Amino acid sequence: MTKRVFIKTYGCQMNVYDSARMAELVAPIGYAPSETATGADLVILNTCHIREKAAEKVFSELGGIRRLKDAMEKRGERMIVAVAGCVAQAEGAEIMRRAPFVDMVFGPQSYHRLPEMVARATRAAGTGILETSFPAEAKFDYLPEPASKSNVSALLTIQEGCDKFCTFCVVPYTRGAEFSRPAAQVIAEARQLVAGGAREITVLGQNVNAYHGEAPDSGEWGLGELLRALTRIPGLQRLRYTTSHPRDVDDALIAAHRDLTQLMPFLHLPVQSGSDRVLAAMNRRHSADDYRRTVQKLREARPDLAFSSDFIVGYPGESDLDFRATLDLVAEIGFAQAYSFKYSPRPATPASAEKQLPEPVKNERLGALQGLLRKQQRAFNDAAVGTTMSVLFERPGRHAGQLVGRSPWLHPVHADAGPERIGEVVLVRIVGVRSNSLTGVVDGVRVAAQ
Ligand code: SAM
Ligand code: SF4
Repeated sequence: MTKRVFIKTYGCQMNVYDSARMAELVAPIGYAPSETATGADLVILNTCHIREKAAEKVFSELGGIRRLKDAMEKRGERMIVAVAGCVAQAEGAEIMRRAPFVDMVFGPQSYHRLPEMVARATRAAGTGILETSFPAEAKFDYLPEPASKSNVSALLTIQEGCDKFCTFCVVPYTRGAEFSRPAAQVIAEARQLVAGGAREITVLGQNVNAYHGEAPDSGEWGLGELLRALTRIPGLQRLRYTTSHPRDVDDALIAAHRDLTQLMPFLHLPVQSGSDRVLAAMNRRHSADDYRRTVQKLREARPDLAFSSDFIVGYPGESDLDFRATLDLVAEIGFAQAYSFKYSPRPATPASAEKQLPEPVKNERLGALQGLLRKQQRAFNDAAVGTTMSVLFERPGRHAGQLVGRSPWLHPVHADAGPERIGEVVLVRIVGVRSNSLTGVVDGVRVAAQ
């Protein structure tokens, strides 16, 4: 009898990728995906630890899962409950202590052992399994091939971990040291994704442009070389990458933006702050002017490149003047979109030991920054109206006869088109703007180039 697995994913796209791999790992041992935890034989919470209350959210979710597990046990059935991801890595022992009904807790570096852990948990109910070491073997060597059918827009992790140790960030502690997959392995996975129907691939890494993987012949490739090689895969129409660090934007990557039409003109390049004092305190190891220069070089290479970013406001010691410098940088660069967060002290990170700014100050600054960023995003979206852009249709829209796709600049675009056009890149004339998306009309005459 087929068993069912429910996986709930929190946080970043790397977790989305990991969850998909987990589903593929348990498929051969008889688990089919389930849309709900109710009645599932295996429930996995794939967690994120980047900002506060992450662990509390997990414990509250576990409360509900426990009730479902108890109900199943009353019917003589078994539910295996697993907590995975970065909260598991950081707080594994605490989860086992506070939620003893959890059968297994494993970090992002151990999930390739999932089938073996499930077998152990099935044999020995009530003995918790904790796997939060950073094992010596490379996880990616043990992952199955991607499923035969891929999403039109697929994710592919090429790099993991981080050695940069920004003072606010838990990633180096939860994901471990920086690691790049060999280029041949990445290319093989990309080919399989395209064979399964992917037309766009976003390559992922905590610091994706720190990529330095073994080259297929000898030596090493950076991200620029890898992207160049990926564009040679027939059928792969679009490439993106995220998340990049301003310090690791090198000439080869800039040249890739200049030369590769498949590389989409939208770049998420987190800056965090516009103040050199705060950037130094954060250990970002670049200045606001370094960031300006990098953006300028990239814009020279690819004039239609639009930028997105991450910002932290209320970092310990951030003065009004420092915050002003962030607003100035935003006004100067002009972002198509951005994420902004109040600084949140993370356990064991250096900044968490510093004196914290009062909450009202953080709130006020976040409000001001988000107001400015919203205005820029609106202007960016408004400017799309009346233009014609290529859209990769990904799935049916909410209304019958409608599809949703993405523009080169990541705008979601809704347009009337038949389902046979899913997976096609189509020229669409933009006629309207909604709060977070565009509406358009398919241009039936011309064929899109990218
Ligand atoms: N590696 C990327 C970089 O260096 O820019 C970002 C990785 S992190 C997963 C995503 C974003 O979460 C960061 O860019 C930062 O803005 C935010 N973030 C990380 N730690 C945070 C904290 N302690 N408080 C608030 N925001 C945080
Ligand atoms: Fe975290 Fe990014 Fe800094 Fe690494 S570079 S420590 S992932 S914010």
